[in-house]
Amino acid sequence: MKQVYLDHGATTPVNPDVAAAMIACLQDHFGNPSSLHGFGRDAKQFLDEARTNVAALIGAHPEEIIFTSGGTEADNMAILGVARAMRKKGNHVITSAVEHHAVLDTCLALQKEGFEITVLPVDAYGQVHIDDFERALREETVLVTIMHANNEVGTIQPIKEIARMAKAKGIIVHTDAVQSVGKIPVDVNELGVDLLSVSAHKIYGPKGIGCLYVRKGTKMLPLMYGGGQERQRRPGTENMPGIVGFGVAAAIAARELPAEMDRLTKLRDRLIAGLLALPAVRLNGHPTERVSINVNACFHYIEGEALLLALDMRGIAASSGSACSAGSMDPSYVLLAMGIPPEIARGSLRLTLGRGTTAEQIDYVLGVIAEITEKLRAMSPLYNPNKG
Ligand SMILES: *Cc1c(COP(=O)(O)O)cnc(C)c1O
Repeated sequence: MKQVYLDHGATTPVNPDVAAAMIACLQDHFGNPSSLHGFGRDAKQFLDEARTNVAALIGAHPEEIIFTSGGTEADNMAILGVARAMRKKGNHVITSAVEHHAVLDTCLALQKEGFEITVLPVDAYGQVHIDDFERALREETVLVTIMHANNEVGTIQPIKEIARMAKAKGIIVHTDAVQSVGKIPVDVNELGVDLLSVSAHKIYGPKGIGCLYVRKGTKMLPLMYGGGQERQRRPGTENMPGIVGFGVAAAIAARELPAEMDRLTKLRDRLIAGLLALPAVRLNGHPTERVSINVNACFHYIEGEALLLALDMRGIAASSGSACSAGSMDPSYVLLAMGIPPEIARGSLRLTLGRGTTAEQIDYVLGVIAEITEKLRAMSPLYNPNKG
Protein backbone atom coordinates (compact mmCIF):
# COMPACT_ATOMS: atom_id res chain seq x y z
CA MET A 1 0.00 0.00 0.00
CA LYS A 2 1.07 3.55 -0.74
CA GLN A 3 2.33 5.29 2.41
CA VAL A 4 1.93 9.03 2.72
CA TYR A 5 3.31 10.80 5.80
CA LEU A 6 1.54 14.10 6.41
CA ASP A 7 2.27 14.54 10.11
CA HIS A 8 5.51 16.53 10.02
CA GLY A 9 4.10 18.81 12.73
CA ALA A 10 4.28 15.87 15.15
CA THR A 11 7.75 14.75 14.10
CA THR A 12 9.93 14.42 11.01
CA PRO A 13 12.00 11.52 9.66
CA VAL A 14 15.70 11.80 10.52
CA ASN A 15 17.73 13.04 7.55
CA PRO A 16 20.21 10.33 6.41
CA ASP A 17 23.17 12.75 6.77
CA VAL A 18 22.03 13.45 10.33
CA ALA A 19 21.87 9.72 11.13
CA ALA A 20 25.33 9.13 9.62
CA ALA A 21 26.86 11.92 11.73
CA MET A 22 25.21 10.52 14.86
CA ILE A 23 26.54 7.01 14.22
CA ALA A 24 30.04 8.40 13.67
CA CYS A 25 29.71 10.30 16.95
CA LEU A 26 28.65 7.17 18.85
CA GLN A 27 31.28 4.90 17.34
CA ASP A 28 34.32 7.09 16.70
CA HIS A 29 34.04 10.20 18.87
CA PHE A 30 32.90 8.93 22.24
CA GLY A 31 34.95 11.34 24.36
CA ASN A 32 33.51 13.56 27.07
CA PRO A 33 33.78 17.15 25.82
CA SER A 34 34.78 18.26 29.34
CA SER A 35 37.88 15.98 29.33
CA LEU A 36 41.19 17.66 28.68
CA HIS A 37 42.79 14.79 26.72
CA GLY A 38 42.63 14.17 22.98
CA PHE A 39 39.36 12.20 23.10
CA GLY A 40 37.74 15.04 25.02
CA ARG A 41 39.11 17.72 22.71
CA ASP A 42 37.84 15.74 19.72
CA ALA A 43 34.32 15.62 21.19
CA LYS A 44 34.53 19.30 22.17
CA GLN A 45 35.16 20.18 18.53
CA PHE A 46 31.95 18.42 17.50
CA LEU A 47 30.06 20.15 20.30
CA ASP A 48 31.33 23.56 19.20
CA GLU A 49 30.55 22.91 15.55
CA ALA A 50 26.98 21.86 16.36
CA ARG A 51 26.49 24.93 18.53
CA THR A 52 27.75 27.16 15.71
CA ASN A 53 25.36 25.57 13.20
CA VAL A 54 22.34 25.80 15.51
CA ALA A 55 23.18 29.42 16.38
CA ALA A 56 23.55 30.33 12.70
CA LEU A 57 20.08 28.95 11.89
CA ILE A 58 18.48 31.54 14.20
CA GLY A 59 20.99 34.39 13.88
CA ALA A 60 22.38 33.93 17.40
CA HIS A 61 25.90 33.82 18.88
CA PRO A 62 27.02 30.26 19.69
CA GLU A 63 27.47 31.15 23.38
CA GLU A 64 23.77 32.07 23.55
CA ILE A 65 22.69 28.49 22.78
CA ILE A 66 21.87 26.10 25.65
CA PHE A 67 21.29 22.52 24.56
CA THR A 68 18.28 20.91 26.25
CA SER A 69 16.40 17.62 25.99
CA GLY A 70 14.00 19.20 23.50
CA GLY A 71 11.40 21.90 23.01
CA THR A 72 9.55 21.04 26.21
CA GLU A 73 12.59 21.49 28.42
CA ALA A 74 13.54 24.70 26.60
CA ASP A 75 10.06 26.13 27.27
CA ASN A 76 10.19 25.07 30.93
CA MET A 77 13.69 26.47 31.39
CA ALA A 78 12.76 29.82 29.85
CA ILE A 79 9.49 30.30 31.73
CA LEU A 80 10.37 28.90 35.16
CA GLY A 81 13.98 30.10 35.01
CA VAL A 82 13.19 33.71 34.10
CA ALA A 83 10.08 34.10 36.26
CA ARG A 84 11.88 32.78 39.36
CA ALA A 85 14.90 35.00 38.67
CA MET A 86 12.69 38.08 38.24
CA ARG A 87 10.36 37.40 41.15
CA LYS A 88 11.59 40.36 43.21
CA LYS A 89 10.73 42.70 40.35
CA GLY A 90 7.23 41.40 39.70
CA ASN A 91 4.95 38.35 39.58
CA HIS A 92 2.98 38.79 36.37
CA VAL A 93 3.42 36.69 33.21
CA ILE A 94 1.58 37.04 29.88
CA THR A 95 0.92 34.14 27.51
CA SER A 96 -1.75 33.18 24.94
CA ALA A 97 -4.65 30.75 24.79
CA VAL A 98 -3.16 28.75 21.90
CA GLU A 99 0.26 27.88 23.34
CA HIS A 100 1.63 24.34 23.36
CA HIS A 101 1.09 22.47 26.64
CA ALA A 102 4.82 22.83 27.35
CA VAL A 103 4.13 26.55 27.81
CA LEU A 104 0.54 26.54 29.13
CA ASP A 105 1.14 23.92 31.81
CA THR A 106 4.40 25.56 32.85
CA CYS A 107 2.53 28.83 33.32
CA LEU A 108 -0.04 26.96 35.45
CA ALA A 109 2.83 25.66 37.57
CA LEU A 110 4.04 29.25 38.03
CA GLN A 111 0.56 30.20 39.19
CA LYS A 112 0.94 27.67 42.02
CA GLU A 113 4.18 29.46 42.95
CA GLY A 114 2.24 32.71 43.36
CA PHE A 115 2.57 34.25 39.91
CA GLU A 116 -0.36 35.82 38.14
CA ILE A 117 -0.88 34.70 34.56
CA THR A 118 -2.77 36.57 31.85
CA VAL A 119 -3.84 34.32 28.99
CA LEU A 120 -4.44 36.47 25.92
CA PRO A 121 -7.35 35.57 23.64
CA VAL A 122 -6.89 35.02 19.89
CA ASP A 123 -9.05 36.02 16.92
CA ALA A 124 -10.80 33.66 14.49
CA TYR A 125 -7.47 33.08 12.70
CA GLY A 126 -5.70 32.21 15.94
CA GLN A 127 -3.76 35.46 16.17
CA VAL A 128 -3.08 37.51 19.29
CA HIS A 129 -4.01 41.19 18.95
CA ILE A 130 -1.41 43.77 19.88
CA ASP A 131 -3.99 46.01 21.61
CA ASP A 132 -5.05 43.11 23.87
CA PHE A 133 -1.40 42.64 24.66
CA GLU A 134 -0.91 46.31 25.46
CA ARG A 135 -3.93 46.29 27.79
CA ALA A 136 -2.55 43.24 29.63
CA LEU A 137 0.77 44.89 30.47
CA ARG A 138 1.25 45.77 34.13
CA GLU A 139 3.86 47.35 36.34
CA GLU A 140 4.59 43.82 37.69
CA THR A 141 4.88 42.10 34.29
CA VAL A 142 8.26 40.36 34.09
CA LEU A 143 7.83 37.86 31.24
CA VAL A 144 5.90 37.41 28.02
CA THR A 145 5.79 33.96 26.41
CA ILE A 146 3.95 33.73 23.09
CA MET A 147 4.67 31.15 20.40
CA HIS A 148 6.01 32.10 16.99
CA ALA A 149 3.93 29.64 14.93
CA ASN A 150 1.11 27.49 16.23
CA ASN A 151 1.52 23.72 16.08
CA GLU A 152 -2.13 22.95 15.30
CA VAL A 153 -3.18 25.60 12.80
CA GLY A 154 0.19 27.05 11.71
CA THR A 155 -0.78 30.66 12.41
CA ILE A 156 2.20 33.01 12.79
CA GLN A 157 2.01 35.47 15.70
CA PRO A 158 3.11 39.14 15.52
CA ILE A 159 6.13 38.44 17.75
CA LYS A 160 8.17 41.34 16.45
CA GLU A 161 5.52 43.89 17.47
CA ILE A 162 4.93 42.17 20.81
CA ALA A 163 8.66 42.09 21.55
CA ARG A 164 9.13 45.74 20.61
CA MET A 165 6.36 46.84 22.97
CA ALA A 166 7.55 44.56 25.79
CA LYS A 167 11.20 45.54 25.48
CA ALA A 168 10.28 49.24 25.69
CA LYS A 169 9.03 48.43 29.19
CA GLY A 170 11.98 46.23 30.15
CA ILE A 171 9.95 43.00 30.02
CA ILE A 172 11.68 39.76 29.01
CA VAL A 173 10.28 38.04 25.90
CA HIS A 174 10.27 34.30 25.18
CA THR A 175 8.89 32.63 22.07
CA ASP A 176 8.37 28.94 21.37
CA ALA A 177 9.67 28.72 17.79
CA VAL A 178 9.56 24.93 17.53
CA GLN A 179 7.07 25.13 14.65
CA SER A 180 8.62 28.07 12.81
CA VAL A 181 12.35 27.31 12.78
CA GLY A 182 13.26 25.64 9.49
CA LYS A 183 9.89 26.63 7.98
CA ILE A 184 10.18 30.41 7.83
CA PRO A 185 13.24 32.61 8.37
CA VAL A 186 13.77 33.00 12.13
CA ASP A 187 16.27 35.53 13.42
CA VAL A 188 16.43 36.34 17.12
CA ASN A 189 17.55 39.93 16.51
CA GLU A 190 15.00 40.58 13.78
CA LEU A 191 12.28 39.26 16.13
CA GLY A 192 13.81 41.08 19.10
CA VAL A 193 13.22 38.23 21.56
CA ASP A 194 15.36 37.34 24.59
CA LEU A 195 14.64 33.61 24.63
CA LEU A 196 13.59 31.20 21.88
CA SER A 197 12.90 27.46 21.98
CA VAL A 198 13.87 25.01 19.22
CA SER A 199 13.40 21.24 18.90
CA ALA A 200 15.57 19.05 16.64
CA HIS A 201 13.00 16.39 15.80
CA LYS A 202 10.72 18.91 14.08
CA ILE A 203 13.55 19.77 11.65
CA TYR A 204 14.69 16.27 10.56
CA GLY A 205 16.97 15.80 13.57
CA PRO A 206 16.72 13.26 16.39
CA LYS A 207 14.21 13.26 19.25
CA GLY A 208 15.26 14.22 22.76
CA ILE A 209 17.41 17.20 21.83
CA GLY A 210 16.68 20.88 21.36
CA CYS A 211 17.93 24.20 22.59
CA LEU A 212 17.01 27.41 24.28
CA TYR A 213 18.45 30.61 22.87
CA VAL A 214 19.20 33.00 25.75
CA ARG A 215 20.22 36.55 24.86
CA LYS A 216 23.41 37.67 26.60
CA GLY A 217 22.62 39.32 29.93
CA THR A 218 19.21 37.66 30.42
CA LYS A 219 18.59 36.71 34.06
CA MET A 220 17.54 33.08 34.40
CA LEU A 221 17.82 30.47 37.15
CA PRO A 222 18.72 26.91 36.14
CA LEU A 223 16.17 24.08 36.48
CA MET A 224 18.79 21.59 37.62
CA TYR A 225 22.03 21.70 39.57
CA GLY A 226 25.21 19.76 38.94
CA GLY A 227 28.21 20.26 36.67
CA GLY A 228 29.20 23.44 34.91
CA GLN A 229 28.14 22.42 31.42
CA GLU A 230 26.28 24.84 29.13
CA ARG A 231 27.66 27.88 30.98
CA GLN A 232 26.29 26.67 34.33
CA ARG A 233 22.76 26.73 32.96
CA ARG A 234 22.15 23.09 32.14
CA PRO A 235 24.30 20.59 34.03
CA GLY A 236 25.02 17.02 32.97
CA THR A 237 27.29 15.42 30.37
CA GLU A 238 26.08 16.56 26.98
CA ASN A 239 23.87 14.35 24.78
CA MET A 240 26.59 14.26 22.14
CA PRO A 241 24.93 12.09 19.44
CA GLY A 242 21.79 14.21 19.76
CA ILE A 243 23.69 17.49 19.65
CA VAL A 244 25.76 16.41 16.64
CA GLY A 245 22.59 15.31 14.83
CA PHE A 246 20.85 18.58 15.73
CA GLY A 247 23.84 20.52 14.36
CA VAL A 248 23.75 18.73 11.00
CA ALA A 249 19.94 19.09 10.81
CA ALA A 250 20.29 22.83 11.51
CA ALA A 251 22.91 23.26 8.76
CA ILE A 252 20.69 21.43 6.26
CA ALA A 253 17.61 23.42 7.32
CA ALA A 254 19.44 26.73 6.85
CA ARG A 255 20.68 25.70 3.42
CA GLU A 256 17.37 24.32 2.12
CA LEU A 257 14.94 26.74 3.73
CA PRO A 258 14.34 29.25 0.90
CA ALA A 259 13.68 26.64 -1.81
CA GLU A 260 11.80 24.29 0.50
CA MET A 261 9.57 27.06 1.86
CA ASP A 262 8.63 28.03 -1.68
CA ARG A 263 7.99 24.43 -2.76
CA LEU A 264 5.91 23.55 0.31
CA THR A 265 3.88 26.77 0.15
CA LYS A 266 2.76 25.80 -3.36
CA LEU A 267 1.90 22.25 -2.26
CA ARG A 268 0.10 23.55 0.83
CA ASP A 269 -2.01 25.90 -1.25
CA ARG A 270 -2.79 23.11 -3.72
CA LEU A 271 -3.99 20.98 -0.81
CA ILE A 272 -6.04 23.83 0.69
CA ALA A 273 -7.68 24.61 -2.67
CA GLY A 274 -8.54 20.93 -3.16
CA LEU A 275 -10.07 20.60 0.30
CA LEU A 276 -12.11 23.79 -0.01
CA ALA A 277 -13.55 22.46 -3.28
CA LEU A 278 -15.17 19.63 -1.27
CA PRO A 279 -18.57 20.20 0.41
CA ALA A 280 -18.85 21.51 4.01
CA VAL A 281 -15.15 22.10 4.66
CA ARG A 282 -13.64 25.14 6.41
CA LEU A 283 -9.99 26.07 6.66
CA ASN A 284 -8.71 26.73 10.19
CA GLY A 285 -6.01 29.28 10.85
CA HIS A 286 -4.82 32.26 8.88
CA PRO A 287 -5.16 32.04 5.07
CA THR A 288 -1.68 33.49 4.42
CA GLU A 289 0.11 34.15 7.73
CA ARG A 290 0.72 30.46 8.35
CA VAL A 291 3.77 28.22 8.06
CA SER A 292 4.32 26.51 4.73
CA ILE A 293 3.79 23.01 6.08
CA ASN A 294 0.43 23.40 7.78
CA VAL A 295 -3.10 22.65 6.60
CA ASN A 296 -5.87 22.36 9.17
CA ALA A 297 -9.51 21.95 8.17
CA CYS A 298 -12.83 21.08 9.73
CA PHE A 299 -15.19 18.65 8.02
CA HIS A 300 -18.71 19.35 9.19
CA TYR A 301 -20.72 16.34 10.44
CA ILE A 302 -17.60 14.17 10.69
CA GLU A 303 -15.61 13.11 13.74
CA GLY A 304 -11.91 13.85 13.37
CA GLU A 305 -11.00 10.45 14.82
CA ALA A 306 -13.15 8.57 12.31
CA LEU A 307 -11.49 10.47 9.49
CA LEU A 308 -8.02 9.77 10.90
CA LEU A 309 -8.64 6.05 11.19
CA ALA A 310 -10.07 5.85 7.67
CA LEU A 311 -7.04 7.71 6.33
CA ASP A 312 -4.69 5.44 8.27
CA MET A 313 -6.34 2.40 6.65
CA ARG A 314 -5.40 3.94 3.30
CA GLY A 315 -1.78 4.49 4.38
CA ILE A 316 -2.14 8.22 5.05
CA ALA A 317 -0.69 9.52 8.33
CA ALA A 318 -2.41 12.69 9.57
CA SER A 319 -3.43 14.19 12.89
CA SER A 320 -6.67 15.42 14.43
CA GLY A 321 -4.96 18.36 16.09
CA SER A 322 -1.81 18.02 18.11
CA ALA A 323 -0.37 14.59 18.81
CA CYS A 324 -0.32 15.44 22.51
CA SER A 325 -4.10 15.68 22.73
CA ALA A 326 -4.78 12.84 20.29
CA GLY A 327 -6.61 9.93 21.82
CA SER A 328 -8.93 12.23 23.71
CA MET A 329 -12.33 13.02 22.26
CA ASP A 330 -12.25 16.60 23.53
CA PRO A 331 -12.20 19.14 20.73
CA SER A 332 -8.94 21.04 20.37
CA TYR A 333 -8.55 23.92 22.85
CA VAL A 334 -6.79 25.87 20.09
CA LEU A 335 -9.81 25.64 17.78
CA LEU A 336 -12.17 26.47 20.66
CA ALA A 337 -10.06 29.55 21.51
CA MET A 338 -10.51 30.61 17.88
CA GLY A 339 -14.27 30.58 18.43
CA ILE A 340 -15.03 27.42 16.46
CA PRO A 341 -18.10 25.65 17.93
CA PRO A 342 -17.21 22.34 19.69
CA GLU A 343 -19.35 20.21 17.34
CA ILE A 344 -17.42 21.56 14.34
CA ALA A 345 -14.03 21.54 16.08
CA ARG A 346 -14.47 17.77 16.58
CA GLY A 347 -14.24 17.26 12.82
CA SER A 348 -10.78 18.76 12.48
CA LEU A 349 -7.90 17.30 10.52
CA ARG A 350 -4.30 18.51 10.50
CA LEU A 351 -2.12 17.65 7.50
CA THR A 352 1.49 18.79 7.85
CA LEU A 353 3.78 18.60 4.83
CA GLY A 354 7.51 18.03 4.70
CA ARG A 355 10.59 17.23 2.70
CA GLY A 356 9.19 14.00 1.21
CA THR A 357 5.84 15.50 0.20
CA THR A 358 5.11 15.61 -3.54
CA ALA A 359 2.32 17.02 -5.73
CA GLU A 360 1.37 13.46 -6.63
CA GLN A 361 0.91 12.63 -2.93
CA ILE A 362 -1.25 15.72 -2.43
CA ASP A 363 -3.53 14.75 -5.32
CA TYR A 364 -3.75 11.17 -4.05
CA VAL A 365 -4.67 12.35 -0.55
CA LEU A 366 -7.30 14.74 -1.91
CA GLY A 367 -8.90 11.88 -3.83
CA VAL A 368 -8.96 9.64 -0.77
CA ILE A 369 -10.37 12.39 1.46
CA ALA A 370 -13.16 13.11 -1.04
CA GLU A 371 -14.10 9.44 -1.06
CA ILE A 372 -13.88 8.93 2.72
CA THR A 373 -15.75 12.08 3.71
CA GLU A 374 -18.59 11.22 1.38
CA LYS A 375 -18.89 7.77 2.95
CA LEU A 376 -18.65 9.05 6.53
CA ARG A 377 -21.24 11.75 5.88
CA ALA A 378 -23.63 9.27 4.32
CA MET A 379 -23.58 7.50 7.71
CA SER A 380 -24.11 10.71 9.67
CA PRO A 381 -27.70 11.39 10.73
CA LEU A 382 -26.96 15.12 10.90
CA TYR A 383 -25.88 15.61 7.32
CA ASN A 384 -28.25 17.11 4.83
CA PRO A 385 -26.56 17.55 1.47
CA ASN A 386 -29.09 20.19 0.40
CA LYS A 387 -27.97 22.39 3.28
CA GLY A 388 -24.26 21.79 2.50
C1 LIG B 1 6.73 19.66 19.42
C2 LIG B 1 6.54 20.95 20.13
C3 LIG B 1 7.09 21.17 21.40
C4 LIG B 1 7.78 20.09 22.17
O1 LIG B 1 9.04 19.78 21.68
P1 LIG B 1 9.72 18.39 22.13
O2 LIG B 1 11.10 18.46 21.56
O3 LIG B 1 8.89 17.30 21.53
O4 LIG B 1 9.73 18.39 23.61
C5 LIG B 1 6.93 22.41 21.97
N1 LIG B 1 6.27 23.39 21.33
C6 LIG B 1 5.73 23.23 20.11
C7 LIG B 1 5.03 24.37 19.45
C8 LIG B 1 5.85 22.00 19.47
O5 LIG B 1 5.30 21.83 18.27
